Amino acid sequence: MAHALSLHHRLSHADAPIGSERTARAIAQSEAVCRSKGARLTPIRRRVLEALHGVDGPLGAYDLVDLLGSQGRRMAPITIYRALDFLIEQDLVHRLASRNAYIASSGTVAGTRTTAFLICEGCGDVNEIASPDVAETVLKVLREQGYQPRTKVLEITGRCIRCQDVH
Ligand SMILES: [Zn+2]
Repeated sequence: MAHALSLHHRLSHADAPIGSERTARAIAQSEAVCRSKGARLTPIRRRVLEALHGVDGPLGAYDLVDLLGSQGRRMAPITIYRALDFLIEQDLVHRLASRNAYIASSGTVAGTRTTAFLICEGCGDVNEIASPDVAETVLKVLREQGYQPRTKVLEITGRCIRCQDVH
């Protein structure tokens, strides 16, 4: 099973210290975003966000429970879900409905930006397309329809370039 393998791979990856420089920078930026909106990145929310930035790809809520539990005090799933809800509200994390998983936002620019994800059904790779053109076009169409979006994430599933022509 490609999915199980790649999840295991990513989780063992995450055993490496999650305090990498890139993660630290993302957390510092996220803290600034929260402060500017009068929201608070509590220790629990921070740990969840750190865990998501520490892996290369999406994690399910129970992956997060396991991952964070292995690093210290076990957190109840409801605690993780609440932290995820907050992080999604702040645009710091996106929920991938098709995978029932969560992924750290690559940009910490909060707002009405639409994010597109290319999700590979072969290797499970998730690639975020941060294109202002896509965001603008989607917003324009939504306005024309008088539609008020709740989610701002586009998910496109298919095969990445590495998984094409593989027999
Ligand atoms: Zn692939």
